[in-house]
Amino acid sequence: MTTVAFIGLGNMGAPMAANLLKQGFTVRVFDLNPSLVSTLADQGAFACPSACGAAAGADVVISMLPEGRHSRALYLGGGDAQGLLATVAKDTLLIDCSTIDVESAKSIAVAAAAKGLDFVDAPVSGGTAGAAAGTLTFICGGEVDAVMRAKPILQAMGRNIFHAGAAGCGQIAKICNNMLLGVLMAGTCEALSLGMDNGLDPQVLSDIMKASSGGNWTLEKYNPCPGVMPGVPASKGYQGGFMVDLMVKDLGLAGQTALTSHSATPMGSLARNLFLHHARQGFGDKDFSSLFSQFRSKSE
Ligand code: NAD
Repeated sequence: MTTVAFIGLGNMGAPMAANLLKQGFTVRVFDLNPSLVSTLADQGAFACPSACGAAAGADVVISMLPEGRHSRALYLGGGDAQGLLATVAKDTLLIDCSTIDVESAKSIAVAAAAKGLDFVDAPVSGGTAGAAAGTLTFICGGEVDAVMRAKPILQAMGRNIFHAGAAGCGQIAKICNNMLLGVLMAGTCEALSLGMDNGLDPQVLSDIMKASSGGNWTLEKYNPCPGVMPGVPASKGYQGGFMVDLMVKDLGLAGQTALTSHSATPMGSLARNLFLHHARQGFGDKDFSSLFSQFRSKSE
C-alpha cells in the first residue's frame, strides 16, 4: 500500500489525513503543533519529528499549509534549512493542497521539475465539512502524468478531481472560484438584509430567491442569516466553517493575480474591502458568512 507523508494537520489537513488512514494508506504525519500530530497518531498515523522525517520513505507527500511562504519553505527550504526537494527520493510525488499565490506554486513546480520530481498544485474546495466527509473538490495544476499519478490518492479524500492546466493553474482556478464566492456571499447578505429592513421574513425571501434568478450556492447551502438554515455556521454563532481571515487572504490572492494579468476585478476588490473591514472589527476567526452582521443594526 502507498505510503503518504502528510504535512500540516490543521482544520483541513487533519480530516484529510484521517480519510487516507480510513482508506488503508500508511500515513506519516508532521505539524509544527505536536498535539495535532498526537491526535492523528491516535488514529493510526506514524508521528514524525519533522517534515523531512515524514517524507523519508514516503511514496507521496501531501502538504496542507496556510500560505505560499509556508509551502515555499517546506519544498524549497531557506536559510540553513533544506527543503523537501533536496531530501526526498527521486520518484516521490509531491502534492500541495494549500491555497497559495500562483507565483509560489509555479516556482516550486519549476524547482521540482529541475530535480525530476512530479509536483502538483491541488487546492481544494468544499471546506471543513467536505474534508471530513471525503467529498472535497481538488483543482489540479501540473503535468498530465503527475496529475494522473495524484488522482487515486486524491480520490481517497474527495469526489471531484479537475485538471485545470499547467503548474499554477489549480491555484488560478481556485482563486477565481473563491473570488466569486466572496462576491456572492456579500451580495446575498446585502439582499437578505434589504428584504428584512422592509419587513420580509428571511426564510420566505431565501426560498423566493433560491427559486428565482438570484439563486446561488450561498442561498442553497450556506445561508448567512441566523436561523434560516439548520447546521450552517450562521445558525451556530458563525463558528467553524471558512474563516473571514482566509477569505481575505483568497481575495488578496485574486487581486495579486489580477495585477499580474492586468485584469479588472472591481467586484472582487469591493468584496475584499468588505471582508477586510469585517476582519479588522474582530471577526477574522469567524465564519465568512458572519459578514451578514455588518448589514444588520447593533440592536439585533
Ligand atoms: P489551519 O491554519 O487550520 O492549518 C494549517 C496547519 O499548518 C497548522 O496546523 C500549522 O501548525 C501547520 N503548519 C504551518 N507551517 C507548517 C510547517 N512548516 N510544517 C508543518 N506544519 C505547518 O489552516 P486550514 O484551515 O487547514 O487551511 C489550510 C489551507 O487550506 C489554507 O491554504 C486554506 O486557505 C486552505 N483551505 C481552507 C479551507 C477551510 O475551510 N478551512 C477550505 C479550502 C481551502
